[in-house]
Amino acid sequence: MNRVRLLVFNAALGPLDYRVPEGMAVAPGAVVAAPLGPRQIIGIVWEEERLPTEPVADERLRPLAGVLPVPPLSARLRRLIEWTADYYCAPLAAVARMVLASGGALRGPATVTEYRLTGGAPERMTPQRERAIAALEGEQGTMRELSSIARVSEGVLRGLVAQGVLEPVAVDCDRPYPRAQADHAPPVLSEGQAEVAARLVKAVRAAAFAPILLDGVTGSGKTETYFEAVAEALRSGRQVLVLLPEIALTQAFLGRFAQRFGVAPVVWHSAIKSTERRRAWRAIASGEAQVVVGARSALFLPYARLGLIVVDEAHEISFKQDEGVRYNARDVAVMRARFEEVPVVLASATPALESLHMADIGTYQRLVLPARYGAAELPGIDLVDLTVEKPLPGRWLAPRLAEGLAERLERGEQSLLFLNRRGYAPLTLCRHCGYRFQCPHCSAWLVEHRLSQRLSCHHCGHETRVPETCPECGEADALVACGPGVERIADEVAEILPEARTALVTSDTLNAPDKAAAFIAEAEARAIDIIIGTQLVTKGFHFPELTLVGVVDADLGLEGGDLRAAERTWQQVAQVAGRAGRGEKPGEVLIQTRHPDAAVIIALAANDRDAFYAAETEARRRAGAPPFGRWAAIIVSSEDEAEAREAARRIGAARPEQADLAIYGPAPAPMALLRGRYRHRLLINARRSASLQDAIRSWLADVPLPRGVRVGVDIDPYSFV
Ligand SMILES: [Zn+2]
Ligand SMILES: [Zn+2]
Repeated sequence: MNRVRLLVFNAALGPLDYRVPEGMAVAPGAVVAAPLGPRQIIGIVWEEERLPTEPVADERLRPLAGVLPVPPLSARLRRLIEWTADYYCAPLAAVARMVLASGGALRGPATVTEYRLTGGAPERMTPQRERAIAALEGEQGTMRELSSIARVSEGVLRGLVAQGVLEPVAVDCDRPYPRAQADHAPPVLSEGQAEVAARLVKAVRAAAFAPILLDGVTGSGKTETYFEAVAEALRSGRQVLVLLPEIALTQAFLGRFAQRFGVAPVVWHSAIKSTERRRAWRAIASGEAQVVVGARSALFLPYARLGLIVVDEAHEISFKQDEGVRYNARDVAVMRARFEEVPVVLASATPALESLHMADIGTYQRLVLPARYGAAELPGIDLVDLTVEKPLPGRWLAPRLAEGLAERLERGEQSLLFLNRRGYAPLTLCRHCGYRFQCPHCSAWLVEHRLSQRLSCHHCGHETRVPETCPECGEADALVACGPGVERIADEVAEILPEARTALVTSDTLNAPDKAAAFIAEAEARAIDIIIGTQLVTKGFHFPELTLVGVVDADLGLEGGDLRAAERTWQQVAQVAGRAGRGEKPGEVLIQTRHPDAAVIIALAANDRDAFYAAETEARRRAGAPPFGRWAAIIVSSEDEAEAREAARRIGAARPEQADLAIYGPAPAPMALLRGRYRHRLLINARRSASLQDAIRSWLADVPLPRGVRVGVDIDPYSFV
């Protein structure tokens, strides 16, 4: 009797056994359809011994319905799924679901009908039709996609099809991608770059696991260098995965890639169209997709012939996923490379302390690109002590920084102001009664956005219009904005330098790839004098005329629930400082601070990276923090405040007594209310030797909890809110 065990995507079910019907060939890793009650479910065939469950008698087994037309998941990928679930205390099915990230792809080859404008006009023009036609210029997509782009109903679009204004196009879902050419346009590398590139190429040829830290200051040409490793993988017919931290960055990256290899790579992130997602998934699984550039979710795709993984800007916090499966894509990338037996390159100008430590103890190979490429020198850095050099009342830029902007404007050079805070003001209050606008679903102030005239919560997305009168006391014109966001800085620049052409760069303004591309084009054409932005501007951009960078508030990163606050401040400011002086002209960086004596600020001013890392390493060693010890967080939440508190208390009472684990809490989380759920948390500090995950699993398994309570485990947490 031929039977198989399936991993299925239903959290309430364990593994299920099925009978393989006569004549059906089923390999481990195969994606199959199986009956469950009256429905059909999808499952992955798994090794029985690795997925223990209660045995079911042969005669009670139902037959599999069929094998889906996709290649079976490789043993290497199955081991990665197991490792990820085990390490992050996550359900196996939740991890496996990230692999099967396109439902359409599982149905096999197909064509879809997309629509595009014909250039014709409808017999009768209505405002909706007019709007749709304007919005759909140059677009092609399914009815649903076009309806969301044009913000009109599908009915309106069907009307336009009937009128011949939109025409259907049959699209082959699996049409091949244009081929990247390894030797399309080889670059001229500096001596240092060529040396590092040769080591990377060698690692690709060796086709063995090799974790490499590519450590190079901003502007040292890391991308050109690892592109040579990409070229080597292309020559040997193997696939490459490049992980990038921000979708907004991909546009600039795609341009550089196309220049080097002749075509754009295959792109993967949450915002791609479902047809593109399906096409990419199938090409990745067949091995036809040569180079995939994507957000962290691209890490779990079923590459057929992976030859190299690159994690660019590897220190970035956005590689950490804080919902669902709480994993760190940088760390999982290293594990994937280990299972696939390929090199993995972590590229950064400001590596995470954990990565540097791995290089120091010899686990990672470290390749250094010290010099800036070409003539450019590192910028001079100066502190502006805001307690001494005070901005004028109601302003946020100190006189010296304002003068610096004026000088650059006069000379026709560009400046950049960095403040990592979206919106106009982080807090709005009533000057009459003291009322503060707070999110009804979260412990957070509502942030005023003047561009959209709204107050919005940056945690749950709750939005409301800015009212005319105070909702508490009814007083008119009594609302005051407290503190600056980037929009307010842009207003200040417009006041002091009305003739300057400015650009506001935040996720609110650069929310689509074409907007990012338009901004880059304008900045490069010198149509922008002053760029004002959030952390989006700290990396990826290369503007030769940019000679002044102003950090509006270097202390901001030191506040809040970030467990690596000092490191994050160092990274952000060092990255944004790296935007200055990338051309022929020298750059200058002014850092505004109220804490000029803080170790991280002193190290920044001295541009002394080694001093910063040495101080931070010592602080972490003393605190038993990563990489010297480990952290985990347990977050207990419920819509009912008392229920959440009681559940956290019960979990706290059941804590294991282990000498190598220190457990703090339970306590209300700093974000005590998030998206309508009350939150309590416990923090665990473990010695490196402790079997942390096993301890947490057996601890939580013993505590029965009501249905409304959710318990999340965050291994190696970044944020502590
Ligand atoms: Zn009031
Ligand atoms: Zn909220």
